[in-house]
Amino acid sequence: MTGGLSNLSILRRNWPEYADPGTTHVVDVCRVQVGGDRPVVIAGPCAVESYEQTLSAARAVKAAGGQLLRGGAFKPRTSPYSFQGLGREGLEILARVRAETGLGVVTEVQDPRMVGDVAGTADMLQIGSRSMQNFPLLVEAGRTGIPVLLKRGFSATLEEWLCAAEYVAREGNRDIVLCERGIRRDCSWSHARSEFDLEVIDPLRRATPLPVIGDPSHATGEWTRVEDVSRAALEAGVHGLLIEVLAPGTERSELRCDAHQGVPEDVLARITEFARGAGVEA
Ligand code: PEP
Ligand code: MN
Repeated sequence: MTGGLSNLSILRRNWPEYADPGTTHVVDVCRVQVGGDRPVVIAGPCAVESYEQTLSAARAVKAAGGQLLRGGAFKPRTSPYSFQGLGREGLEILARVRAETGLGVVTEVQDPRMVGDVAGTADMLQIGSRSMQNFPLLVEAGRTGIPVLLKRGFSATLEEWLCAAEYVAREGNRDIVLCERGIRRDCSWSHARSEFDLEVIDPLRRATPLPVIGDPSHATGEWTRVEDVSRAALEAGVHGLLIEVLAPGTERSELRCDAHQGVPEDVLARITEFARGAGVEA
């Protein structure tokens, strides 16, 4: 880390208790430890589309050994004409499903004015790739004191990503989990929009005590490749995975968001089993 960035508090040497490169700031989300010795699996549908679909996905996540439910009520869509999520109704569904299953809820907030409302339901606030440099949003999320899942902007450098995390940390909230979700690649030879940046994991872990997880679902955009990339991410040293799941009983063709990405239940179970056995090296 160079130049003016050396004053970032999230750099390991600036948090004296984490000066030793082997230590990680463990983030507790509903008694699930992100950044501990064992990788965690956070999973769920891309979007909350109905109560039945979300409950079915949550039950599948739980049965497969996933520890937290992730589902979007507010979806960041490239086209303004695409489904934008159920909004407040989606938050209510997530709250009901949490009560039903006991799984902690991770969900995205896009608008700084909505942070209070989303924080009323979420156990962890997701800041999406497209919002990584929405600075007022980062500040508001930091002020809630609720754990924050900060996705990497798909063109962001490691330094820009750490600076974004610093906006949250500066508000007194260190409970930040970084998420590598794939960076923009040359699409001319492949239909994949992104590629998982395996090479950022080690430098990131050396630079900061914050836990780092991987999202192979958005990196690959295709459920059949999610398992391989999950294994690779774990080998590279992530503290966990964010996986999109196809809710049992749901028709893929009828989904309104990221229909190709959700892994079936059995694939999620394999990924979770592998993750559980993987351990995280200091
Ligand atoms: C998502 O998590 O559903 C999502 C849209 O991800 P990203 O912000 O990484 O594109
Ligand atoms: Mn998605």
